[in-house]
Amino acid sequence: QHIKKYFPVKRNLFGRSSQHVKAVDDVSFKLYRGETLGLVGESGCGKSTLGRTIIRLYDVTSGSIMYDGHDLAKMGEAQLKPFRKRMQTIFQDPYSSLNPGMTVYELISEPMNIHGNIDGKQRRAFITDLLEKVGLKAEHLDRYPHEFSGGQRQRVSIARSLAVKPEFIVCDEPISALDVSVQAQVVNMLEDLQQELGLTYLFIAHDLSMVRHISNRIGVMYLGQIVELAESNELYENPAHPYTKALLSSIPVADPRAREQNRVVLTGELPSPLAAISGCKFQTRCPYATARCREEEPKPIEIGTGHQVACHLYDE
Ligand code: SF4
Ligand code: MG
Repeated sequence: QHIKKYFPVKRNLFGRSSQHVKAVDDVSFKLYRGETLGLVGESGCGKSTLGRTIIRLYDVTSGSIMYDGHDLAKMGEAQLKPFRKRMQTIFQDPYSSLNPGMTVYELISEPMNIHGNIDGKQRRAFITDLLEKVGLKAEHLDRYPHEFSGGQRQRVSIARSLAVKPEFIVCDEPISALDVSVQAQVVNMLEDLQQELGLTYLFIAHDLSMVRHISNRIGVMYLGQIVELAESNELYENPAHPYTKALLSSIPVADPRAREQNRVVLTGELPSPLAAISGCKFQTRCPYATARCREEEPKPIEIGTGHQVACHLYDE
């Protein structure tokens, strides 16, 4: 609820700066057990920061993060410890996120050492089983990351994040760095694992074409805010926010006329995250902007069951 994550900016070597990058600027949403919530937006919109903030890889500037009845936002490291293994993340880049000097066994063991689950002989059996779940084999246990392809490395990172038996995983663009030919395989595997292990996902991506298939609901972020949130099909069939329409317009379709009526073309650049924009943050690129948009910030409103949008066009 009302999550803000601001990063201070150092202006020069002397003195402090009062400037902040408002990476996440008043975001509220629910995440239901067992669902996949897709989160999309251009790079720099704050989606990774939001993902990392809700599992407390970062401190929280303000707001609350209710997890199973407990507010993670207010906890210190000691209180967070039991929650850490319940929440894991899979990063975008399987090349830099795996220590090249460790074997697959050691890489997957590392989080287990930290959280102290499963020792000795049982551990090797457990890890072998995990490798099979992610489509690798027992013979891969003693190999190093450089011996694997990008897709296989991402499978190792996924096994690593599953090692402590989490219930919630922030998947931060887990397929963006992979060859198109293996993207679908990895997404299908994540879906199978979700079914089998009862996982909940926040699935971050930079474009809407990647998340439709896997997400139950999708949130669209722009400059630190969620501007629209709806069930997956509803968002594709009835996009409401001009920014969502622009993102959908940029996905190639077989028959371009099919989307012509609803087409919004993005103009201008993404404003600097330091720019102080009063009113709607999308006003500089929105073809429908009015005087009201420059003065008053639109608040999220419900326009259908579970469909919310923050845009003045819908609250007249
Ligand atoms: Fe465009 Fe105004 Fe809606 Fe913002 S509030 S998206 S500027 S119409
Ligand atoms: Mg990112």
